[in-house]
Amino acid sequence: TTTVARTLLPEVESFLGRGSHGSFVGGKPATCKSGATIATTDPGCGEVLAEVLELDSDEVHAAVDVADEAFRKAPWANLPANERSAMMHRLADAVEKHKFIIAQIESLDAGKVEAQAQGDVQNFADTLRYFADMAQHMSPRTTLAVKGHEAWTSRKPWGTCAFIFPWNFPFLLIGWGIAPALAAGNTVVIKPAEDTPLSAIYVAELAKEAGIPDGVINVVTGRGATVGAALSSNPKIKRMSFTGSPEVGRLVGESCGKNLVPVKLELGGKGAAVIFDDVDVAETATKLSAAITFHAGQVCCDATRWLVHKDIYDEFVDQCIDRLTKVKIGYQLDADTQMGPVCNAKQRQRVLSYLEKGQAQGAEFLLEGGPATVDGYDGHFVKPALLAGSLDNVAAQEEIFGPVAYLAPFDNEAQAIEMANHTVYGLANSVWTADLGRAARVAESMIAGNSWINAHNVFAHGVPYGGVNQSGVGGGVLSVETLMDYYRSTSVVRPLS
Ligand code: NAD
Repeated sequence: TTTVARTLLPEVESFLGRGSHGSFVGGKPATCKSGATIATTDPGCGEVLAEVLELDSDEVHAAVDVADEAFRKAPWANLPANERSAMMHRLADAVEKHKFIIAQIESLDAGKVEAQAQGDVQNFADTLRYFADMAQHMSPRTTLAVKGHEAWTSRKPWGTCAFIFPWNFPFLLIGWGIAPALAAGNTVVIKPAEDTPLSAIYVAELAKEAGIPDGVINVVTGRGATVGAALSSNPKIKRMSFTGSPEVGRLVGESCGKNLVPVKLELGGKGAAVIFDDVDVAETATKLSAAITFHAGQVCCDATRWLVHKDIYDEFVDQCIDRLTKVKIGYQLDADTQMGPVCNAKQRQRVLSYLEKGQAQGAEFLLEGGPATVDGYDGHFVKPALLAGSLDNVAAQEEIFGPVAYLAPFDNEAQAIEMANHTVYGLANSVWTADLGRAARVAESMIAGNSWINAHNVFAHGVPYGGVNQSGVGGGVLSVETLMDYYRSTSVVRPLS
């Protein structure tokens, strides 16, 4: 029952009104012997949105068999690339047609501000189109004459690819993950996070309506330790992609390693923003404050360490405090909300505990943060916080995944680069300066997959995104290289005579 005042789209009411949601395997809702379900709740008010099937390991392996059979029967892999591409465009059309419905489901399930969820849904459709178009231009075969022989190399899809996703960008990340795999002709099995399974189920149903053959897109729901672990240990999976924490990524990598299944890991981050003394302080404070509060800081590529030239440090801190104390915290579907709740009670506790641990290790609070309350909503809200001190502090070293930035002053460029690189992570950083020569030098010197200049969190299809060191393994996403990961190649040589 609804406990808060809000108006939902009728299609969303009816989707949630089903009460329970199955996984989706082989073009139909899957069943679950035990009948066990996991409740998925609205983090903005605590209301149960739906009960979702909790599959056991055998049921996951059976789903992989279905996807594997669908691959081998090849209604998808054997389609000419232009027809496969056309079907992906049809799915993109369907996603765009249902954009506001999917976005509202995503907003409810993940606590994401609704307008931001709409951007994620559009991005999903754009990603499908990007890879669908690119795959048409991949020559399926190259030939070469070698010493009286003819040789050719063909590109083929691998088979069934598995994807395990986190709860922060549930829908957008599904697009980033599966679009290149589908475009190359693979079948996919998706495991959404326990907290945010609804948009995955919705899109699997849409895919059927869009004409994607049964068994090509499958969704298995349940616990990570059961469903995720079963996928990671299944030798029929030909490529595994995991997005989530380094701790679980390591387990997935170990398990896939036993079967020699190639793994792509997109993990956490602790990005730096290096801010020089020639910036427009007000504008930089506005942009970084917006970045740290975007989706309540639950963004893997966020700038969570702000390294500021000592001559503007105090002024920058004052300006950020001004911006962050004005951020409108609220229920995610309210039009004037700028920052919604964090995804679950555990995540809220994690954020609060890092504030305590950071302080216990000597960090100073520049802005206290802590629990936030929103009238009428029993949600997992937190206030933005700013900490400062030694970069060895636990709050400066570990990923918090909340609206918390850690500040430290620097003297010169070399020191700033050294401070930025004082991390086990390597996902995304930014440099802020009016001197574009310096900007390029610093951007190139920070060890990470991505660097931005005078901006943070800017993405484009065609610009590879992915981490190094503890932030990721396996080449990242969103580029031509990502598509290539989903083809295997076979070379054949024969005499010309
Ligand atoms: P998580 O690692 O706890 O969970 C991720 C997924 O793994 C979930 O679906 C979960 O059910 C599953 N899982 C849990 N135990 C498993 C096991 N033993 N075997 C297989 N799967 C298992 O991560 P989270 O808390 O959902 O997400 C937050 C993390 O994701 C952060 O570290 C964030 O930085 C990272 N992230 C990275 C990127 C990127 O592109 N690099 C993008 C988004 C999020």
